[in-house]
Amino acid sequence: MTTPPTIRRRVDPRAERAARTILTGQRPRLLRLPVAATTNERRRDPRAIRDAALVQHHPRPRYDWTRDAASAGIAPMMGAAIAAAPAPPLQVIAEPAYLILAMLDRPGGEVSEHDRQVIAAARLLADAGGGAVVTVSTGSGEALAVAGSDRHVALPDGWADDYVPERRAAAASALMEALSPRHILFPDSPDGADVARRVAAAAGERLFAGVQSLGPDRATRQSAGGSLETGHRPTRLMTVAADAFAPLDGVRHEARPLDLAAPQTAGEEVLPRLGGARRLSVDPDALSLSETDFILSAGNGVTDWGSFAELGEALGATRAGSRVVCDAGHLPRERQVGASGTVVSARCYLAFGIAGAPQHLQGITGVRHVIAINTDLHAEMIKRADLSIVADAQAVMPALIRLIRERRHA
Ligand SMILES: Cc1cc2nc3c(=O)[nH]c(=O)nc-3n(C[C@H](O)[C@H](O)[C@H](O)COP(=O)(O)OP(=O)(O)OC[C@H]3O[C@@H](n4cnc5c(N)ncnc54)[C@H](O)[C@@H]3O)c2cc1C
Repeated sequence: MTTPPTIRRRVDPRAERAARTILTGQRPRLLRLPVAATTNERRRDPRAIRDAALVQHHPRPRYDWTRDAASAGIAPMMGAAIAAAPAPPLQVIAEPAYLILAMLDRPGGEVSEHDRQVIAAARLLADAGGGAVVTVSTGSGEALAVAGSDRHVALPDGWADDYVPERRAAAASALMEALSPRHILFPDSPDGADVARRVAAAAGERLFAGVQSLGPDRATRQSAGGSLETGHRPTRLMTVAADAFAPLDGVRHEARPLDLAAPQTAGEEVLPRLGGARRLSVDPDALSLSETDFILSAGNGVTDWGSFAELGEALGATRAGSRVVCDAGHLPRERQVGASGTVVSARCYLAFGIAGAPQHLQGITGVRHVIAINTDLHAEMIKRADLSIVADAQAVMPALIRLIRERRHA
């Protein structure tokens, strides 16, 4: 737990000394005045601060130092700091000089990390000359505003779970026609790359695939197993490699909806050539930890392994654990997360009873949302988490299973 900021004025020993010096005789003398009286600072009462911060007495005292703010006389300041944490300024591009289209996957309606990276790459091209980023996906653009989208074209919701790449390709081609974007970026994912190739073939244009660095004048990608770098002037159609661009944080764009008739109808006449293609549900535990999006992880604080397995099944999450639980044989070795296990980049990491040792935290640096359940308020994992439950893992697991079942029945 970080100590809250204090508001002491910086001590200047020379100035203090000069203020206390009197020249009464041959030698300078120093007045013995308490320094606090001259600085007009409120005296801190360390005992009151400790009492206010104490959250648990037994078995050993635990302190939450954010609670000492009031006794330290800095509560209003901290409040102001929290309240004043400004929302990032809204960036409006009213008259874009050109458009960059980002065709997103948005699997299951969720904005994936790869989608956010594609938007970040599109921003590099747009910001170089007053352009705007137009995102295209199912669902609304709200969630995309903080990822850097200036305009959003919503594809019909029914397209979210269908595997009909012909339809998306037709929509992209229609938007190319309607908006004349300078570039169109796709994620270099199985779905995104498929659609990109169809669009390129239909337009008779060259596709630069797997872009790893991008600027207005040059795009590069690696080839020959990473031993060669191929550079090219950015083509109109490009796919963006996974994890090559950092998603944007602390930005707020408009994601203004663009009401275009074209993508709503485009592709309806394009009959899918694949008969009966659909997404198959997979056993989450059969997925490798580096590929899965949702991980339920256990540490030494978990003792009820039956509930842990049941919760994994109820959530549809891939089970994993810390080295301690893998060493103890509760989970196989390939389920170990961390520096000497697997480095994961899931969207959500639900950690039950994991302390958050540096070697474990190294394995989750790329995770977007961490939720920690731990009895120790001061556990490193709780500091890393976006959301924490300070409670017994054995109590939280069955409660969560109950809640999921109730929701399902409702
Ligand atoms: C070279 C090296 C490489 C390593 N590599 C890895 C690695 O890849 N991955 C890895 O994980 N570790 C690794 N380790 C080990 C690492 O240092 C830690 O020892 C390990 O991560 C601790 O696991 P833990 O958090 O599950 O257990 P503990 O450190 O025992 O922590 C258990 C946590 O559970 C909490 N808890 C206790 N009871 C409950 C309860 N009832 N409900 C909720 N919470 C509870 C406790 O407060 C505590 O925070 C490595 C170590 C070394 C030296």
